[in-house]
Amino acid sequence: PYERMQKIREQHIVPSLRTYYKKPLLLHQGHMQWLFDHEGRRYLDLFAGIVTVSVGHCHPKVTMATQKQLARLWHTTNIYMYPAIHEYAEKLTSLFPDPLKVVYLTNSGSEANDLAMFMARLHTRNFDIICLRGGYHGGSPYTLGLTSLTSYKHGVANGFGCTTTMLPDVFRGPWGGSHCRDSPVQTVRKCSCTEGACLAKDQYIEQFKDTLNTSVPKTVAGFIAEPMQGVNGAVQYPRNFLKEAYQLIRERGGLCISDEVQTGFGRTGSHFWGFQTHGVVPDIVTLAKGIGNGFPMAAVVTTKGISIAIEEDGLQKNSEDVGTYMLLELAKLRDKFEIVGDVRGKGLMIGVEMVTDKDSRRPLPVEEINQIWEDCKDMGVLIGRGGLYSQTFRIKPPMCITKRDVDFAVEVFHTALQRHMR
Ligand code: PMP
Repeated sequence: PYERMQKIREQHIVPSLRTYYKKPLLLHQGHMQWLFDHEGRRYLDLFAGIVTVSVGHCHPKVTMATQKQLARLWHTTNIYMYPAIHEYAEKLTSLFPDPLKVVYLTNSGSEANDLAMFMARLHTRNFDIICLRGGYHGGSPYTLGLTSLTSYKHGVANGFGCTTTMLPDVFRGPWGGSHCRDSPVQTVRKCSCTEGACLAKDQYIEQFKDTLNTSVPKTVAGFIAEPMQGVNGAVQYPRNFLKEAYQLIRERGGLCISDEVQTGFGRTGSHFWGFQTHGVVPDIVTLAKGIGNGFPMAAVVTTKGISIAIEEDGLQKNSEDVGTYMLLELAKLRDKFEIVGDVRGKGLMIGVEMVTDKDSRRPLPVEEINQIWEDCKDMGVLIGRGGLYSQTFRIKPPMCITKRDVDFAVEVFHTALQRHMR
């Protein structure tokens, strides 16, 4: 069956849909934080279908609710009323502070962000959208213009003008973390930034102001940012940066959009929404991934539920407890191994940056990172990748993961690092 699937894939699935690992996994089943391949081998899933399966694979409550709904009614679109949609809208918006009380459901995060930008432009009658370097907001032609991670543009963004023509200005802020970020672990020696050019908070905000003043003289439509950059590898901003940025944008008549596609639904542990960790209230919030736990669901919440499983299973608290535990355990590895340059993040949104050495902080060559990563897989632990040079391991497991799982994962990672050092 493996060879047959490989053949079908080669012949009938577009090659741009890349798979992980030299020998891609053929998965047959999942249960909570575990995945099983075609030979019945079990893997601890530390990436949750790219931060999507938040409450766990085939969570029994979600499975039951879905089966019940499938037997009752599938689709009516929005021309009729259906109770579950209304109850859902009420529940979901109850989780937001005022005035974020109206929801529009979409199918993906990209669509949600497309809509958010559209709303900002319509509402403000301005045009420019500001985003941050290292951010990722989707794969649609429109949202692709917001990403500065070129590998996601497949060489088309500039060549065909498909994104640049639509987005007159994109703020390209500095890469990387900061000394004063809000994380249970602090960096050693110096802070992490991909290009060795980490700016202190004041410089960061100054750069932001410069861009607003020079590229966008008077007005902006909106500012979109993730509370913590996901695809870029759990990259955090200097403390209070978002707060000041929101103020500057609002002074220029713009709306503030929080992309909670990865950070929402309690993943960062201390708060249900990522924006709350920054002490701000956005004008528009976009949601996807965890909102559907794998089903194509997304939403835009703005001025005028899901979390049933998240609430009942105490998953936000688990994110905080187990996430902090994992960060501290990983920090021990960072202190032990020169090639572990940084361990950062919050809750169950963790980045582990691999470097040649802690002083230069240059990314470890990708073949070496691949070796460690493949080794972890062979020992039963699946990890995500991210960052400009794919140098950051992304750990964002189903939020039902336990401390015992963390011990297992850290031990596996430790073994893989040790093998690499030999
Ligand atoms: N925003 C962020 C922060 C994301 O990480 C992603 C997906 N990786 C998106 C938006 C796009 O979501 P989707 O893939 O559902 O279109």
